[in-house]
Amino acid sequence: MHHRLIDFLFPKQCAACRTPGSGLCERCAPSAAALVERRLPTLDVVALGEYSGAYRSAVYALKDGRRDVAEALGSRLASMVRADDILVPVPTTASRKRMRGFDGVDLMSCVAGIDAGAVTLAVLKCVGKETQRGRSRVERLAAHGRFLCPSDLVDGCTVTLVDDVCTTGATLEDCAAVLRAAGARVTKAFVVAIANGKA
Ligand SMILES: [Zn+2]
Repeated sequence: MHHRLIDFLFPKQCAACRTPGSGLCERCAPSAAALVERRLPTLDVVALGEYSGAYRSAVYALKDGRRDVAEALGSRLASMVRADDILVPVPTTASRKRMRGFDGVDLMSCVAGIDAGAVTLAVLKCVGKETQRGRSRVERLAAHGRFLCPSDLVDGCTVTLVDDVCTTGATLEDCAAVLRAAGARVTKAFVVAIANGKA
């Protein structure tokens, strides 16, 4: 559907409290003072907030493919990004991306990168069941879990992962392992929200 038609049918509201306006209103946007940190086995994760309360709705909206929310959260993430960072977004499964037409985490990462003067390299791919067949032996070995890095762009680089929610951290650790196998150094991840593992 055309974007202007969508805006007419579904006027933009704050994704968390539904106040008219786009993205997240000032009240609902996470404040820089509310950053949450978690140490995973090989990664330090920094989140804009806890995955709780009204803020959950903002994360759902991002997953649902609301561009204005991806942009609002990207601007917030930018405050954590340094100009020499290389951001690598965790990819959305191909089927969800096809459904929505774009990848919310990818867009959010690009906005954060542009605001902070950093680069976003979308080098990770999801390994769908349908794509397992017909892959070369090298490609199969390069895959770790559900992800694959078919590019050598990150070889020798220090990169930072970007994702929406960190729950157990398994996805971030899988992505970090794939990037390390491709020659990158990975010690950090920026996420929108950290859920407590029991959620
Ligand atoms: Zn709001």
